Amino acid sequence: MRVIQSISEMQQIAQAARRAGERIAFVPTMGFLHEGHASLMREGRLRSELLVTSIFVNPTQFGAGDDFDCYPRDPERDCTLAAAAGVDLIFAPTSREMYPAGYQSWVDLERITLPLCGASRPGHFRGVTTVVTKLFNAVLPHLALFGKKDFQQLAVIRRMTLDLNLPVEIVGMPIVREADGLAMSSRNAYLSPGERHSALCLSRAIGGAREQYRQGVDDVSRLRAGVLAMLKGEAAAVVEYAEFRHGETLEEVTTAGDNTLLALAVRIGTTRLIDNCLLGEEN
Ligand code: AMP
Repeated sequence: MRVIQSISEMQQIAQAARRAGERIAFVPTMGFLHEGHASLMREGRLRSELLVTSIFVNPTQFGAGDDFDCYPRDPERDCTLAAAAGVDLIFAPTSREMYPAGYQSWVDLERITLPLCGASRPGHFRGVTTVVTKLFNAVLPHLALFGKKDFQQLAVIRRMTLDLNLPVEIVGMPIVREADGLAMSSRNAYLSPGERHSALCLSRAIGGAREQYRQGVDDVSRLRAGVLAMLKGEAAAVVEYAEFRHGETLEEVTTAGDNTLLALAVRIGTTRLIDNCLLGEEN
């Protein structure tokens, strides 16, 4: 498995692979890899001849008070995990390589980036859509795999790919959870043992809402009240948002259906966690 830092070298390898008729699958990440990332890689392995993952903690998607400086990093462990998942090549550019002096170009989407994480993290999605476009232009993938854990990010990238006619198939993958239900995340490393226990309120609230929906409750204000009550039952939890929205457009809904998204962002101590589900889906 090779590690490449240069954009032009990455493009040359991708172009050669394409000339040889190989299909390129791409899994963008910020590193500190876990089983959630590995599930994307294994699926990419099945669907391609060249499997590329990127490891880049993208400064432009972090706000002023965010955790860019302390975001967990472990390049050696990442290499071991990526190799075990079948990755051929890690693309790990420096910030300088991605954003050299004089940089001034941005990809910016409108409505779909405004609610949820877009409301609480201004500028976040502009950083995400810009870096994903730049990574696509470096890796030249036929398909790219993203986790539903970051549901709004996946919806935004699907929209961008469509709007800008990017020739990349976007594949959404199920959320991988710990045995007790906590959605895997690099940021779980921030949690103390007590906070780790408190963090279970997210998956519990999601399970509760799903159950209510299954029993026939489709009034969003009732479902939302149930979710907030469950989250507030956890003393350490501070709710940033708990919203029901359309599963594609992310617009507000008042009556829930199978394609209704329940999206949560909750702070446990200083750690911000997100989780979600589509009410009609198992994952
Ligand atoms: P990140 O390194 O957090 O930027 O995540 C890189 C990719 O892995 C994104 O597409 C995430 O949605 C995906 N991902 C992260 N955690 C999970 C998880 N628990 N299950 C599935 N996909 C995940």
